[in-house]
Amino acid sequence: MKVLKFGGTSVGSAQRIKNVASIVCDQEQKIVVLSAMAGTTNSLVEISECFHKKDPEKANAVLSSLEQAYVNHIEELYRSDVYKEKAMQYMLERFQHVWSFSNMPFSVFDEKEILVQGELISTFLMACYLEEQGVEVALLPALNFMRITVDNEPDMEYISKHLKVLLEQNKEAEIYITQGFICRNAYGSIDNLERGGSDYTASLIGAAIQAEEIQIWTDIDGMHNNDPRFVEGTKPVDQLNFEEAAELAYFGAKILHPTCILPAKFAGIPVRLLNTLDPSAKGTIINNEMESGKIKAIAAKDGITAIRIVSSRMLLASGFMSKVFNIFDTFNTSIDMITTSEVGVSMSIDNPTHLNEIIGELKKYGTVDIDRDMCIICVVGDLRWGNIGYESLTTDAMASVPVRMISYGGSFHNISFLIRSCDKEKALQELSKKLFNDPKA
Ligand code: ASP
Ligand code: MG
Repeated sequence: MKVLKFGGTSVGSAQRIKNVASIVCDQEQKIVVLSAMAGTTNSLVEISECFHKKDPEKANAVLSSLEQAYVNHIEELYRSDVYKEKAMQYMLERFQHVWSFSNMPFSVFDEKEILVQGELISTFLMACYLEEQGVEVALLPALNFMRITVDNEPDMEYISKHLKVLLEQNKEAEIYITQGFICRNAYGSIDNLERGGSDYTASLIGAAIQAEEIQIWTDIDGMHNNDPRFVEGTKPVDQLNFEEAAELAYFGAKILHPTCILPAKFAGIPVRLLNTLDPSAKGTIINNEMESGKIKAIAAKDGITAIRIVSSRMLLASGFMSKVFNIFDTFNTSIDMITTSEVGVSMSIDNPTHLNEIIGELKKYGTVDIDRDMCIICVVGDLRWGNIGYESLTTDAMASVPVRMISYGGSFHNISFLIRSCDKEKALQELSKKLFNDPKA
């Protein structure tokens, strides 16, 4: 069985919901995971903030306009009054539940309960629509099987066991529909898999039932080989290895949530990225295969800060690195790139919240300097060290760009450059020219 996930824009209007229905109805049994309709989760976050700040008037305004938008979607989506009424009643109930938090002391638990409403509504609307079309459909409540542990990790055993029971109870269904993003925690309270977590849901479900394939449907035809906002003529990449996809998902390729890769990779289930607006386009397949001798894609991530510490004490001293890393660990800040010399180490971070405290601690061990507004450029492909020529090809392409750090050899799949954000566009274009137009690439 396949698992198909459709994101917020893919179910963002009545017409889009109809499109998704036409994609999923092909007589093959499948599980369909849906996000909330586009913009809904953001509005629910805004409403929660209003409750938190004791501003029920603004909350009411946001909620009312959200409700009105759904009234219009429902009006457009269904043919019969029976289904219009059914959908309307459910939607109003869900939003009344949201409003029920308006005059209470507001906690993070309440916010979590508010955030799940978007997915509950989108899946209900889709299930009703399919039912009206005469499709055999079963709505599986994610809150009954999707669960995380006390460490916020998916409870695979629980998920697998409870999901299989639900599937068994609804054996006749052609289409199973369930909510992305939402789950319960180890204590049974309502929780979520963090923003953008619907991809993760699909991957966890795929792993739990050993699916044949996990499909992530968005509105672009797969993972592109460079950023189409800055480079002309980018193309979708046909195939990526899980490791390559993991690098790209982190380094800015918004199409796939980074957490989605791991469960699929461990379970050995291919992930296919497809386009709702062009369902016949080939898209990108992510699997365990490794195409040798090929550079696949380039991605960039902005908002990076580089930190360098130089210390003569580092020379031949053991334990220096662990002291440095401990400081980052204390402030819960992860290091992305790292390069070292005998007397210094440079690191990059993407979360500068605790930068001042980190600098303060580092200064105890050496001279510290900082470069802000930096960008990591990541080149992904077969970069095994035995393959000669590929590092020089990429560094050649960067010949006219000032490079602050280079990282190579951390994996077999990437080479990364840290540059100023203002040089990003040029770097992406030069790399594309050299890597995708050069016959050697
Ligand atoms: N609706 C959630 C969000 O907007 C989850 C998702 O769309 O993946 O973050
Ligand atoms: Mg998403």
